[in-house]
Amino acid sequence: MSPALVTIKPDYGYPEKISLLEALYALVEEEARNYPFVCEPGCASCCTTYLWVTSLEARYLREALNSDLEARLLALKDYPRPGSTPNTMALLLMRGKSPPEDHPGEVRTCPLLGPDGLCSVYERRPLTCRLMFSVQRCELSGEARVPEEFLALSSLLFQIVEELDIGGLYGHLADQVRFLRDLEKGVEEVPEVLLGNREAPDLAYLPEEDKLRQILARLYRRQLPSGKTFKETLDHLRENFGPREALSFLDEIL
Ligand code: SF4
Repeated sequence: MSPALVTIKPDYGYPEKISLLEALYALVEEEARNYPFVCEPGCASCCTTYLWVTSLEARYLREALNSDLEARLLALKDYPRPGSTPNTMALLLMRGKSPPEDHPGEVRTCPLLGPDGLCSVYERRPLTCRLMFSVQRCELSGEARVPEEFLALSSLLFQIVEELDIGGLYGHLADQVRFLRDLEKGVEEVPEVLLGNREAPDLAYLPEEDKLRQILARLYRRQLPSGKTFKETLDHLRENFGPREALSFLDEIL
């Protein structure tokens, strides 16, 4: 993808987008309480370098990074990168196309995991970490087991977290933090490893189940600290951004 084809405004609406992000994170916490997940502090086999996030989440997390943690993250080499964003993937699948393959890399332990087995940025960890749950102990069985319904909800939330980061980017946390650091130095060119966020194509994965619809309705009706609802805030951000140019070229080539 050519960076020139993507309209990027990572700073756009940051305070409002953070209030949306925190509301979405709160919803995950509430919903997770409805499942018999066995995860507890110190079990961290899911803490790997599969750290694919939006630029909004990267900036939010970066505010909690000290220089040592940031250096550890930036020292990462050869990690897996996404081939498309969740919403681009949804759009391609809706159109019967195969999404681009992800870029393989060595999967190691997350550099933000402390020696005590605890996350160094727990309060600011991204959605991908917040959705890592299992109903069985991973270290005993070698893998996580996640109820289908929670997986379906997770797919939708990945779409929504991209949707609300209007003008932002999707990619590996290390690439995002590197880009944010370069932006501060005045380097504005978007590296090719970061992908432009796009709107959700009508939540392509939304299943018919009433329960999931109700969960999403609850999120969109949720009142934020500003007094506005999640939906009103998102609509306001959308209207003021102007046409979403990010990845609009895809419509021409698909
Ligand atoms: S950011 Fe924290 S929760 Fe996420 S993988 Fe790293 S250590 Fe684990």
